[in-house]
Amino acid sequence: MAVRKIVVVPHPVLRQKAARVKDFGPTLQKLIDDMIDTMRDAPGVGLAAPQVNVSRQVIVVEYEDPEAGIPHQLYTVVNPRIVSFSKETEMGVEGCLSVPGIIGEVERAQTIRVKGFNRHGKPLTLDLSGWVARIFQHEIDHLNGVLFTDRAVSVERVSPEMAAEMDRV
Ligand SMILES: [Zn+2]
Repeated sequence: MAVRKIVVVPHPVLRQKAARVKDFGPTLQKLIDDMIDTMRDAPGVGLAAPQVNVSRQVIVVEYEDPEAGIPHQLYTVVNPRIVSFSKETEMGVEGCLSVPGIIGEVERAQTIRVKGFNRHGKPLTLDLSGWVARIFQHEIDHLNGVLFTDRAVSVERVSPEMAAEMDRV
């Protein structure tokens, strides 16, 4: 396992549509292990493959909220797609490891259903809500070349120290 370099704007890979994964072999397994290491090293709570300069449809998300009774969970989803969005939305502040020094308020669906595959190619369905649903929407946007700043209703410049205190994705 290894920490890979996180690319930042205006790197063109961040604007590409990532390709679907068809081969669940060793190259994918290494990519996923490295993405988990890279996310933890950053530290972040989510990472999409284009952020490590690999234009493939892979995301990792690591999340816990003990106060809300949500235990530690590590998600790896290959070829994820959001098949339904709740009508209910909520505003929240996001920061991105690939957009340093900027935070912004983004409106996201409160609840989503995600379909995709686990790292071994087994189909999975996830029903997600709240902050973890926000993280998934942010990461899946990365696979489509979309950055949170494209969607933000307002953005603000912050110091690296302040940015580091945020849950970046
Ligand atoms: Zn991001």
